[in-house]
Amino acid sequence: MPVTIVLGGQWGDEGKGKITDALAASADLVVRPNGSTNAGHTVVTDDGVYKLHVIPSGILYPHCTCVIGAGVAVSPPDLMREISALQERHVRLGQLYVSDRAQVIMPYHPLLDLYEERRRGAAGIGTTLRGNGPAFTDKVARRGIRVADLLPGAEEELRRKLEILLPEKNTLFVHLYHEQPLDLDDLLREAREWGKALAPYVVATEVLVQDAIASGKHVIVETAQGTMLDLDYGTYPYVTSSPPTAAGACQGAGIAPTQVDRVVGVFKAYTTRVGAGPFPSELTDEIGALLRERGHEYGTTTGRPRRVGWFDAVAARYTARLNGMTAAALTKLDMLDPLPEIRVCVGYRLGNQVLNAPPARLDLYLRVEPIYEVLPGWQSDTSAVTSFSDLPLAARRYVERLEELIGVPITMIGIGPARRQIVWREARALA
Ligand code: GDP
Repeated sequence: MPVTIVLGGQWGDEGKGKITDALAASADLVVRPNGSTNAGHTVVTDDGVYKLHVIPSGILYPHCTCVIGAGVAVSPPDLMREISALQERHVRLGQLYVSDRAQVIMPYHPLLDLYEERRRGAAGIGTTLRGNGPAFTDKVARRGIRVADLLPGAEEELRRKLEILLPEKNTLFVHLYHEQPLDLDDLLREAREWGKALAPYVVATEVLVQDAIASGKHVIVETAQGTMLDLDYGTYPYVTSSPPTAAGACQGAGIAPTQVDRVVGVFKAYTTRVGAGPFPSELTDEIGALLRERGHEYGTTTGRPRRVGWFDAVAARYTARLNGMTAAALTKLDMLDPLPEIRVCVGYRLGNQVLNAPPARLDLYLRVEPIYEVLPGWQSDTSAVTSFSDLPLAARRYVERLEELIGVPITMIGIGPARRQIVWREARALA
C-alpha cells in the first residue's frame, strides 16, 4: 500500500489529524498537499495534546518524514512559530521539508483579507483572516511569491517582482480601503529574514515524494479541510481556496492519480461547519448546543464556534463518489452517546422535488429541507469499547446505516480523542 490519501468528507474538522496519526504509525512519509495555516489538526498522544496547523501530523513519529507540498500557502512566521512550539516539546524536526514551489502568504495578504471582509460587512464570506484566500488568488493570477523566491540569492529577483506587485496592493490599501500603504524595503527585509529561517527545510518536495514512492515507501497524503469546501464542488462561494479533494491532494503533493492505492474519507458522526453557507441539517436547538459543547466544536486555529447538525448523508455520498473513497473513517461516535434518537439527512426536499446531490445554485441549496431518517440512540458510554462487536447494537446499526448511505466501508471508528480510542474494522475494507 504505498500511497494513501486521507481527506475530509464533510466541511472540514472531521478529525483527520487523529486518523492520519493512527495511519502514520506505519507510514514513512506524510505530505500536506493543500491549505495553509488556517487549517488545524489536533492530535492527542500519550505526551499530551498537539495542535498542528501546517505541519503534517506524522511529525509526532520520529520515523516519519514530513513534507509541506507545493499546493500549500505557507506563512513563514506562523510556520516558524509552529516549529519552535514543537521543538520546545522536544519533537524531532530533522525530517521536515517544505516545497520550494509552495506559495508564500506575504504580509499584505492577511491585510487584504481583513480589509475586504470589513468592506463587505454582512456579505463577507467569513474567512479566517489569515491571508489564505488572497495568497491563492495571487497564485492563480500568476503574481504569487513562492518559497524559492525568499531564499538567499533570489533577493534581486524578489525586489523586481515586488516593485511591480506592491503599487497594486498599495493602491487598494489607500484608495479602496483607506488604510496605510506598505513599504517596499520593509517588505524585502522581512522576506530576507523569512528566507534565512526557512532555507534549511526547503527542497523540491515532489522529487523527494516520487523517490519515496519509487523505493516502495508508504506515503500518506494528509489533506486539509473537507470536500464540501472545494472550489468546484463545495458550497461556492463559501469554500476554501485550495482543493481538498483526492485530485487536489495528488496535485498538491506531486503524486499521480495512478500511484494512489487508498483514499480514506474522514467523516464525523454528525456534521459541523465553520462560517456562513448552506447547512441543511443544522441544529440550532439544545441538541446542537449539547454536541457543540461535548465535541468542543470550536476552531483549532481560530477558536470560532462551529455550526453543528445531524449527519448529512446526501453530502457524504456525493463526496465519497467524487473522491473515489475506498474506505471511510467515522470519528466522534462517542459524542452521540447520550442521545435517545439520532437523525440522518437522507435527501434534500426542494418544493415537490427530492434532490440526491447538492445543487450548484446557492439560493436553492439554502432553501432545501432535510429529509430525515430517525434511528434509535444507545444512551451508553462507548469510549472504552475495543471492538465493533462490543459497541451497543444501536451504535452498530447507526454505523452500518451510514456505511450503506455513504456507499463505502467504514473501517475505523473514533470513540474518543486518544490514540487507542479507535475501533478498527480493516476486514471491511477488504470485503
Ligand atoms: P481535523 O482538522 O479534521 O483534524 O479536525 P480537528 O482537529 O479540528 O477536530 C478534531 C477534534 O476532535 C480534535 O480535538 C480531536 O482530538 C477530537 N477527536 C478526533 N476523533 C475523535 C473521536 O473519535 N472522539 C472524540 N471524542 N474526539 C475526537
